[in-house]
Amino acid sequence: MLDNKTEYTRRSFLKLAATGAVLASGFPAFLRHKTSVSRRVIVLGIDGMDPKLVQRFIREGFMPNCRRLTEINGLKCLQTINPPQSPVAWSSFISGANPGVHGIFDFIHRNPSTLAPFCSMGLIEPPRHKLTVGSYVFPVSSPNMRNFRQGKTLWVELEKHGVNCTALRVPVNIPPTPSKAKTLSGMGTPDLHGSHGFFTLFTDDPNEMARDVAGGRIERIESGKQIVCHVPGIQNPFRSEGHKSSLAIYVEPDSINRAARIKIQNNEVKLKEGEWSNWLQVTLPFLPYVAEALAICRLYLKSARNPFSLYLSPLNINPASPAIPISTPANYAPALARDIGLFYTQGLPEETRALSASAFTDDDYRHQAIDVLRDQQRLFSSEYHRFNDGFFFFHFSSLDANSHMFWRAFDQTHPAYSAALAKRHGDFIPWLYRQMDNLIGTLPLADSSRTLIMIMSDHGFAPFGKQFHLNAWLRDQGYLVCGQSSSDKELTIFNDCDWKNTRAYGIGMNALYLNIKGREPYGTVLSDPAAEQLKEELKSRLLNTHDPMTGEPVFKAVYKASELYSGPCAEQAPDLVLGYAPPLRISWESVLGGIGSVSISPNTDPWSGDHTVDADCVPGILLANQPLGLEKPAITDLAPFIASNFGVPWKSS
Ligand SMILES: [Zn+2]
Repeated sequence: MLDNKTEYTRRSFLKLAATGAVLASGFPAFLRHKTSVSRRVIVLGIDGMDPKLVQRFIREGFMPNCRRLTEINGLKCLQTINPPQSPVAWSSFISGANPGVHGIFDFIHRNPSTLAPFCSMGLIEPPRHKLTVGSYVFPVSSPNMRNFRQGKTLWVELEKHGVNCTALRVPVNIPPTPSKAKTLSGMGTPDLHGSHGFFTLFTDDPNEMARDVAGGRIERIESGKQIVCHVPGIQNPFRSEGHKSSLAIYVEPDSINRAARIKIQNNEVKLKEGEWSNWLQVTLPFLPYVAEALAICRLYLKSARNPFSLYLSPLNINPASPAIPISTPANYAPALARDIGLFYTQGLPEETRALSASAFTDDDYRHQAIDVLRDQQRLFSSEYHRFNDGFFFFHFSSLDANSHMFWRAFDQTHPAYSAALAKRHGDFIPWLYRQMDNLIGTLPLADSSRTLIMIMSDHGFAPFGKQFHLNAWLRDQGYLVCGQSSSDKELTIFNDCDWKNTRAYGIGMNALYLNIKGREPYGTVLSDPAAEQLKEELKSRLLNTHDPMTGEPVFKAVYKASELYSGPCAEQAPDLVLGYAPPLRISWESVLGGIGSVSISPNTDPWSGDHTVDADCVPGILLANQPLGLEKPAITDLAPFIASNFGVPWKSS
């Protein structure tokens, strides 16, 4: 069913669209008949929706609405971007351009002058000017929030030409790009810890100890009739280094009834074992009576006794009174909260890291993930029903997050697959696809004369069974030189690297950098032609690297940045972009510069499906309720296509 039928070639379409000939005859009917900006375009961005799975579930009979759409425009694979990571791909959708234009190359970028890694989806920089009085620090300039995405912004271009736009849960849009459009930021929006989801598990389990885990913290508490749980501190921007704002939770466990009475600031709730609270509003008093941040959180009583165990969700920005801008106009998020109640604002709302850290069981995680889906359905339904004309976009995260976490329950080839796991959770991914199909069925699919509906994803999915320790490989091949104790697993390029003899290093999901003289602080590699020769050498060696267990290549492709990117930001790209061949992917530790002891090891994390492989292995999907005339659509085609649909000129950046 995957359809390559030619209706109109993409090149000819774009060429004519750019020259204003889009209304001329010879083009799809919906473009020929378009007369005004009142046309409705609805785009559902379903993160991680995989075309092969859609094809399979259509065949199995439970995606009837997607079947309907495939009968109109075929089941098109949407060519994604290299690397096919969500921030990179969504930035390409929003800007209609390659990363050389929008400047987002990976989840993790690095500062070339310090090599410090940072999240590419936005950064809150402290205020430049401060006044210190005793232990208090008063900012006398505003903190600088930076959205690194450059290039055009689809809804901004449309609004300039009078097209009403609503774009909800927009990835890589924090702080939101200034616009007249109604927008709500999505993926990339931090929690109050400045993290992408910092959870806390309080427990009196004698086998547990207080410790940081990836994405959260386990807090050991004392048993008793009254338990006090101190929430790990949040950096107080008004206090000098080390001062943190405090928040306490008071608990009276009722072990007989397997319940607990819980008080957190002005909220008092009684939870039974296995029960979640509704959203609770809390205030972080950074500067009493002067500056405070409002947050929302949920509590989950995992166990009322033996051991006692209480889970605190990440402290989400309160949409009713956001601590940082998360919408345009600024009062849009508060208006949404008034209309539908409080909702997740955290950019990655499924608490995947709690499952990876064993703070959640599979059942716990699934329950929370379904709550997230319901939350998004509620938000979608509310805003979709207000939409009259123009452009409407909504991003759904469920297929992505849950394909990451439950691929092992679904794919018999995955090393963590078991019949017992499949019996309990193997239905979850198919169920989620069915939920998306049901939602698609609520759209006016038959109203194609007035409404163009596009269902698209940023990438598909693949199994993640093994991890490649890039820095260990570079070390073993002599490109990265370590200090004395190079077999220690905890080593990173930051604490055990002989930079004066190192020629290449890895930071990020698909990125490899050369240690360039004049760019990196201790650069050793001269610029071209030496750098070019080294790139060719590394490319050739990487492509000849095989998994010794299977004999299969580790990489499907390795690209020099110049082969992929062009534009004003292209210089900031990694020197090589690594297209892993599933089931391999970068190792967890290598992403942030860890070295590791071996080059390939099994992936034992519940995070068992992934897409940070070569783009050709994980195309996205494009479905529509009209023939689009795009033969082999690419994700960068969609913004100019949508603009041309409204008669809005779109000149490539
Ligand atoms: Zn994605």
